[in-house]
Amino acid sequence: MAVDATQPYDDQNVFAKILRGEIPCRKVYEDEWSLAFHDINPQSPTHILVIPKGAYVSWDDFSAKASDGEITGFVRAVGFVAREAGLVAPGYRLLANTGTNSHQEVPHLHVHVFAGRQLGPLLA
Ligand code: ADP
Repeated sequence: MAVDATQPYDDQNVFAKILRGEIPCRKVYEDEWSLAFHDINPQSPTHILVIPKGAYVSWDDFSAKASDGEITGFVRAVGFVAREAGLVAPGYRLLANTGTNSHQEVPHLHVHVFAGRQLGPLLA
């Protein structure tokens, strides 16, 4: 069911469980602020998710409440993951679904990194 991005954080969501090590993931990168892992149901040849370690439901929550250090760390981590994966020259797309109309399904902020094929002009 799509997430209502105005709801309080639910610490039983699947990405919270991954962060606590209760569920495995195919890790790509980890640092003080962020974790990156392969999407379990990839929509492109490369499909990585980057999440902040803090408890934020969505981009809205994160951009309003996270510290400058968390925001800087997370933004740099997304860029680092894409760079290290060799995605800059061929190109990649970032996507952060927020709330019901966007079909956000997991109520922990995640940035999708799509790459590895010619992507459509827009995701509608
Ligand atoms: P949508 O499912 O509509 O893309 P989201 O933007 O919330 O909604 O994306 C959630 C993403 O999390 C999906 O791409 C899904 O495949 C992925 N996912 C769900 N569970 C896991 C998991 N255990 N490990 C890795 N990725 C997961």
